[in-house]
Amino acid sequence: MKLSRRQLLLLGGVASTASACDSALSASAMHPPHRKIRWTEETSTICPYCAVGCGMIVGTTDGVVVNIEGDPDHPVNQGTLCSKGSSMTQLIHSDRRITKPMYRPPGAAEWREVEWEWALDAIALRIKKTRDAGWIETDAENRVVRRTEAIASVGSAALDNEECSLLVKALRGMGLVYIEHQARI
Ligand code: SF4
Repeated sequence: MKLSRRQLLLLGGVASTASACDSALSASAMHPPHRKIRWTEETSTICPYCAVGCGMIVGTTDGVVVNIEGDPDHPVNQGTLCSKGSSMTQLIHSDRRITKPMYRPPGAAEWREVEWEWALDAIALRIKKTRDAGWIETDAENRVVRRTEAIASVGSAALDNEECSLLVKALRGMGLVYIEHQARI
């Protein structure tokens, strides 16, 4: 059969469309929508990884996270997630996940687990010591500034408004001036 150029192009288009439909059908047969989360309890949350702050839906069964996906009702990501956000379930179930504070003493090669109380006390003592050692009462023109430039803070995208407000009040109260946030870096 002899085909015109126009007929050939039309046939090609029909063939590609049929093939795309076949692929879509077989993909949906292999992955029925919401199969994994059919019987789960759903909780909405925010991705902790970066400053975009995508909304997520976490599916749990008997308290165990079985699925995490983008929240279609969230105004930031509208159901989408990047590759990091999409792999969030692995963060929860990874056997390499650190769930306790770790401490490596000066000169030691190994990290060791410590209790939260011990870690918080150790951090507080170091902050106090560094703050006192680097305290600046007045600047070069003898103006009272009462600050420390020896400590800096980088905030997390996972903090909400109220947590940020409390954190900044505490940092300013300690005299910090180098206060940054992940979203601005
Ligand atoms: S899903 Fe990706 S882009 Fe969205 S907040 Fe998480 S890391 Fe950032």
